[in-house]
Amino acid sequence: MDNAALALGVLRVAIDAPLRSPFDYLPPPGVAPAEVPLGVRVRVPVGRREAIGMVVDHADTPSVSAAALKPVHQVIDAAPVLDSALMQLLRWTADYYHHPLGEVIAAALPKALRAGAPAAAQVECWRASVAGRQALAVDAARRAPRQQALLALLAAEPAGLTSADLTAQLPRWRDAASALLARGWIERLEVGVTTGAQSCGSRAVAAAGGERGAPALSDAQSSAVAQIDASAGSYAAWVLQGATGSGKTEVYLRCAARTLARGGSVLVLVPEIGLTPQLVQRFRERLDVDIAVLHSGLSDAERLAAWRAARAGQARAVLGTRSAVFAPLPQLGLIVVDEEHDSSYKQHDGGCRYSARDLALVRAQQAGIPVVLGSATPALETLQNLIDARYRGLALPRREDQALAPRLALIDLRAHTVRQGLSTPVIDAMRRHLSVPGQVLVFINRRGYAPTLLCTACGWIAPCHACDARLTVHRASDQLRCHHCGAVEALPERCLRCGFAVKPVGQGTERVEETLRELFPEQALIRLDRDSASRPEQLEAIIGSVLSGEARILVGTQMVTKGHHFPGISLVVVLNADQGLFSTDFRAAERLAQTIVQVAGRAGRERNRGEVLIQTQYPEHPLLQSLLSGGYPGFAATALIERRAAHWPPFGRLAVLRASTRSRGGALEFLAAARKLSPDTGAVRLLGPVAAAMARRADRYHAQLLIESADRGPLHRFIDDWLPQVEALARAQRVRYALDVDPVDIQ
Ligand code: ADP
Ligand code: ZN
Ligand code: ZN
Repeated sequence: MDNAALALGVLRVAIDAPLRSPFDYLPPPGVAPAEVPLGVRVRVPVGRREAIGMVVDHADTPSVSAAALKPVHQVIDAAPVLDSALMQLLRWTADYYHHPLGEVIAAALPKALRAGAPAAAQVECWRASVAGRQALAVDAARRAPRQQALLALLAAEPAGLTSADLTAQLPRWRDAASALLARGWIERLEVGVTTGAQSCGSRAVAAAGGERGAPALSDAQSSAVAQIDASAGSYAAWVLQGATGSGKTEVYLRCAARTLARGGSVLVLVPEIGLTPQLVQRFRERLDVDIAVLHSGLSDAERLAAWRAARAGQARAVLGTRSAVFAPLPQLGLIVVDEEHDSSYKQHDGGCRYSARDLALVRAQQAGIPVVLGSATPALETLQNLIDARYRGLALPRREDQALAPRLALIDLRAHTVRQGLSTPVIDAMRRHLSVPGQVLVFINRRGYAPTLLCTACGWIAPCHACDARLTVHRASDQLRCHHCGAVEALPERCLRCGFAVKPVGQGTERVEETLRELFPEQALIRLDRDSASRPEQLEAIIGSVLSGEARILVGTQMVTKGHHFPGISLVVVLNADQGLFSTDFRAAERLAQTIVQVAGRAGRERNRGEVLIQTQYPEHPLLQSLLSGGYPGFAATALIERRAAHWPPFGRLAVLRASTRSRGGALEFLAAARKLSPDTGAVRLLGPVAAAMARRADRYHAQLLIESADRGPLHRFIDDWLPQVEALARAQRVRYALDVDPVDIQ
């Protein structure tokens, strides 16, 4: 070991690359390692190129030979970009999900920061140069009065003036500035904005309680707010359970306002912001601080601005989707996870497959602050944590002025005449509700016109050429589309094999819309799915027309379950409950029950009881029965017994290694080889490999290997040993693979 290197010490730098361990670098010449704090970005040589990484550790002993050590090219930041609390969370994330730290850090940073942009917002400033002052003294700019005026303004202000100041004082100053800049008489600077916490602090105190325009709380709400608030300053996980409209958001708002008044900042996670513009509006109206909104629909510049505002303490509340769990928030005092059961909190595709709900709990624990998980239908994991007293429960009963719980009934599809997916009792009930006049919601979990295009002569079914899947008929656009890989084809009029006529089979939202227009021609109908509401304005228009009562019938997919109140809806119809009943995925039943309860939650107003009709071929199924007799808690109790018996989560821990290859069988072979590598510890069980439920998707063959253990500890120790060996294998083959810890979708 080279003594010089030992004495110097090295910087461990995490780079945005699929590399397990950080790289070691020497500090720049003349700089001691300790002078480069953790959390700052550095430019470093990687092979022949240069990359931007983050210093994540100091070490005395380099992990490579001293001769191979290279110095950092440049230290980008004077102060850490991410504070030590956030670094701790990112480290935890990388460890727990067995994902490279550099990639986890990159995912937490806006794109511009990954490319080296300053971490603080910059303000353009102007200052007179020495030459400029001399020129002013001898009146050298007298022929150009505007230049003269600008120079005089700047010379009078030694610290310089911002562009905003100049615009206020001297209209059309920019041309003059260019001319002066060209002559070297003024200088342009970019100055980092310092924290806006001071000004915001005083506003927050004025907003204490957040009660402006707020309803008086019910006893249950007051009690929830008081208990959550009493846990301020220490870790506590609260589960706020209440039906849609029971007043959970009201509780979040009060707790947020109290946290802000104490000088803390607040993080609110929601499943999808695009679907809930009213929620953002409500927070803005009620909280007297700047709120940064972070979601996937932002442009890079918008995301950067929101992120910087949060980091600078200027936006003291962040409202965001999944990745906002990594938002930089100094003095974080409260985290809220709304609709905590929603599967969009889990990163499904690409990158580190984290659960933002779970990370919110870790972040709260690390920071020593309360976290509130709100839902009408908590995840089974969450309910088990309540039973085990790891979380504390708060229940909001229906408010006095709120509708009674809707009445659920099953319609046996085998026992009734069915017209295009609609049974006679459903059509009769719709007629009855519409005449009152009520509004009706028809829920079907499939968009498009029909899921299948069939030849009536030879039995040909329009297939996706890249997937083991049928193409969905989309009448509105005259297309066949694959909902798995996105392939699009023209809708053929005749069979592509024998030339005979083809016909669409089954129902999607478009076809249900068509049938209902025939059945109820006098009723205004509107459809809500990803095709009809691809842009936010369309979504707002649809929601508006249901809320105003203009639309009498709403046909929609899952999108209708996300965060809207439709108090005028008195009847909800679930067209087909059966997809969730017999899935290979052990979570399918839970998702089905949540969907039914969430959809049912849209029904009913004031004291009128809403009605919910669920069409099924299996009315005797235990899941549907437990849901009918015991509601969501009844279902959950039954489902938890099943999970325990099968050792599924939350009674066992799971990870899944997924792989895909272009060649048939390649993914299975790779996983079989990976399985052979596994040290036999006895503490974990490997199941598979098996082909995925849809083996061929987007022209790749998919397979998976399940890793199961009774406890987290042995599972993670196993993966720590095993994954590096799998990686060594993978490099030799053309395999795409990813490890998913706590998978939510194991089809
Ligand atoms: P949730 O988040 O559980 O769906 P919200 O907090 O959004 O419920 O409340 C639903 C509606 O009821 C909102 O319009 C809200 O303003 C109103 N509301 C909430 N709490 C009360 C209350 N205590 N008194 C009167 N109205 C309330
Ligand atoms: Zn045919
Ligand atoms: Zn496809």
